[in-house]
Amino acid sequence: MRDLDSYEAWFITGSQHLYGKEVLRKVDEHAQQIARELNSSSEIPVRIVHKPVVATSDAIHGVCQEASRDDNCVGIITWMHTFSPAKMWISGLRVLQKPLAHLHTQFNRDIPWSTIDMDFMNINQSAHGGREFGHICTRMGLRRKVIVGHWQDATTVTDLAAWTRAAVAWHDAQGAHIARFGDNMRDVAVTEGDKVEAQIQFGYAVNGFGLGDLVAAVNGITDEATDRLLQEYDDCYSVTVALSPRGERRESLRDAARIELGLRTFLEQGNFKAFTDTFENLHGLRQLPGIAVQRLMNDGYGFAAEGDWKTAALVRAMKVMAEGLKGGTSFMEDYTYHLDPTNPMVLGAHMLEICPSIAANTPSVEIHPLSIGEREDPVRLIFEAAPGEAVNVAIQDLGDEFRMLVNEVDVVSPPEMLPKLPVARALWKPRPDLKTATTAWILAGGPHHTSFSQALHSEHLENFAEIAGLQLLVIDNDTSVRAFKSALNRR
Ligand code: MN
Repeated sequence: MRDLDSYEAWFITGSQHLYGKEVLRKVDEHAQQIARELNSSSEIPVRIVHKPVVATSDAIHGVCQEASRDDNCVGIITWMHTFSPAKMWISGLRVLQKPLAHLHTQFNRDIPWSTIDMDFMNINQSAHGGREFGHICTRMGLRRKVIVGHWQDATTVTDLAAWTRAAVAWHDAQGAHIARFGDNMRDVAVTEGDKVEAQIQFGYAVNGFGLGDLVAAVNGITDEATDRLLQEYDDCYSVTVALSPRGERRESLRDAARIELGLRTFLEQGNFKAFTDTFENLHGLRQLPGIAVQRLMNDGYGFAAEGDWKTAALVRAMKVMAEGLKGGTSFMEDYTYHLDPTNPMVLGAHMLEICPSIAANTPSVEIHPLSIGEREDPVRLIFEAAPGEAVNVAIQDLGDEFRMLVNEVDVVSPPEMLPKLPVARALWKPRPDLKTATTAWILAGGPHHTSFSQALHSEHLENFAEIAGLQLLVIDNDTSVRAFKSALNRR
């Protein structure tokens, strides 16, 4: 994955020539100072690039066109230090192809009570300049982020940082390729969807590939490369005795390593950012990919099982958004409940494919039977997710539109050991409580697959939904079933 600091968000300040050269020079000086300071914030992952003040329709059009073309620019941040008559912005905003954040801030934090005069008023005009800009954005139906607050305020920086993360994830999805090995799990409804519509709305292309091509890549892996990867497994994880160098099932670990290397080669050669597989179509593979998928996810690939490309793309987007933040992001499935009325919880897991980025402990490499898939026993990494806040996120295809669902949850430590559970897992309590959250999720028609993250918050997803033009439903501590139902009915 690309380092986020190789991306840029352009800081564009609007004004007009009415005020004269001296004021415009001052405006530009202030804009440079704000951009410089935002750029030096460790919280904002991308570079904030100051652009010269724009004061004419042509200049605005020019910079919007330039931003739209620029490969490193993930979005623009606009600021109206003074008043910039908004009809000048129409042609520029019309051609803008990048996400837009309107930073509604004022250079001076405080009113200088004893010295304020008309010169001060002439420069610090955001209060009405920003309203003029907001009006034209709304009039043009533009989706954008509005961030209000002094530019040195911590919450302003946090809001802007969250938006830049969503903007990078959006940028990453444009022109992205997603590979599907095998089709959808037969007869499953929720993992289906309109791939053409998704490409139009989200920018990524989803295409299927024959298992034979993947198998050829796996078979092309050399023994030396396999040995090196086995060494890495031995070094990084706690490898169970049977799979250890002299263990009786070492050969199964070799098969798993070869599958990882083959998959990696295939994905790298095709420049894919995410992929899906399905246990119903493994022709030529000796095991269902377990550790392979887990480690590829850990390296930033989006993944979802059973042909679920929507979730695979979402996992990728969330991994990009979360880059550099504490906490992991993984494909997830609501698996089984603990319905003790005094302490209800959800155990999340999958057959194998949970990302070790969420692991609280060193994963163990184990081999166990898998009753489905009709292949040899698959090797997998087993671990538990660390306690703390998390989100479960889904994108659903409702037939006539895509929608995003978020449930805020709290991951907890299991009250007892789970010595016989042969898969990685996360145990959580949904907010506001299991009954309300699950009722809301089911009423919304939310899927069983999600992208789970301990690095991101609802705000990141809200920004992404805004940029992508998705309706967003958040289930959190404020959710009541009654209010949620009315939100659903408004659709
Ligand atoms: Mn599944």
